[in-house]
Amino acid sequence: MAGSDAMTAADQLIATSPVTDRVNLLGLTRQQLETFFTDLGEKRFRAQQVMKWIHHRGVRDFEEMTDLSQSLRTRLGEIAEITPPAIAEQHDSQDGTRKWAIAVEGGSLVEAVLIPEGDRATLCVSSQVGCSLDCTFCSTGKQGFQRDLTAAEIIGQVWLAINSYDAWQSGKGRVVTNVVMMGMGEPLLNFDNVVSAMSLMCDDLAYGLSKRKVTLSTSGVVPNLDRLAEWADVSLAVSLHAPNDALRDQIVPINRKYPIARLLASAKAYLDAQPDKKRVVTIEYTLLAGVNDSVEQAKELAALLKDYPCKINLIPFNDFPNSGYERPSGNAVSRFWQVLTDAGFVVTVRTTRGDDIDAACGQLVGEVVDRTRRAERHRAGRGDHSLLESG
Ligand code: SAH
Ligand code: SF4
Repeated sequence: MAGSDAMTAADQLIATSPVTDRVNLLGLTRQQLETFFTDLGEKRFRAQQVMKWIHHRGVRDFEEMTDLSQSLRTRLGEIAEITPPAIAEQHDSQDGTRKWAIAVEGGSLVEAVLIPEGDRATLCVSSQVGCSLDCTFCSTGKQGFQRDLTAAEIIGQVWLAINSYDAWQSGKGRVVTNVVMMGMGEPLLNFDNVVSAMSLMCDDLAYGLSKRKVTLSTSGVVPNLDRLAEWADVSLAVSLHAPNDALRDQIVPINRKYPIARLLASAKAYLDAQPDKKRVVTIEYTLLAGVNDSVEQAKELAALLKDYPCKINLIPFNDFPNSGYERPSGNAVSRFWQVLTDAGFVVTVRTTRGDDIDAACGQLVGEVVDRTRRAERHRAGRGDHSLLESG
């Protein structure tokens, strides 16, 4: 999509996003929807019927829900709605990656990216608009924090992704097989909404994903990680990025509050609380040239994680304008990988997908922010400040 045309469409979507006081059923968990129906004097199983319409069939209009009585359909039309967030832009990469800029209420934009790989398709989902944790190499962090996404806005990204493909409607298999909470925001700082959305991802009446195929990624909000096991049993990824506290204090500021030893202990306790004893933590390590990518640092990381139940995912830094960092050379990445592999770790290197549409970690958002600013100037010129005031 060309920049100016795309923004015009986005402006329109943002301007017309409905604000209502109806209950948005999209973000309600099975339990919450059952309560909703029993409060209406209806049977609990109405929740199951309606969940299937919403999540399995992508239906938003209560009139199409033919297994509900006409009077219930009419009542629902008066008090409830099924409203996913609006797509502001959609980009398709030549490699099959599809990226959305999603306009959420209030005029902000968040990202979701779908990455097909063989018979898998992983959807990367955002949990907040911006992020307060300010990791130095992350464009979301540079934006600051705007607000939490609602549960409907989080699960709505899955709904939108699936409903943007014809294959879903024609039953040709699953459009989304895995979800990673690795878009914008820190999921553990939006705990309740993230837990609700993940419960829908795993619920058979919604998206029915196995708990192993839904991954929460955190930079280390330890108090909330400590209580996560009470609420969720999804896979866990920890954004480590440094082999010692001195360096991690610099690039992941939350480390000054919750240092590495506490973080790793909390993640281990989360695993230990799961019945499946074979599970491991994914350690994410973004490689920044000249900062954390030396052979010495690889050895230090190997020593730190010795005997820790983990696999390691190396992410060569994805650059964005004015980042102040560089991506290491292929050789540097290989050397780092080799040290860890020789030490006996399972190590993967995240390949960059969707390069032609800037779909990698930390990239899309920078691009959208630039466009938003352009739109702000445009709007300011027209005397319409709706987006400026919302932020
Ligand atoms: N807030 C959570 C989840 C979102 S970020 C977290 O920090 O874990 C998902 C992953 O992408 C994190 O490991 C994050 O550190 C990494 N990341 C952020 N910006 C990046 C960039 N520009 N290049 C490579 N990885 C990046
Ligand atoms: Fe927030 Fe994660 Fe970016 Fe850090 S890396 S600023 S926690 S989104």
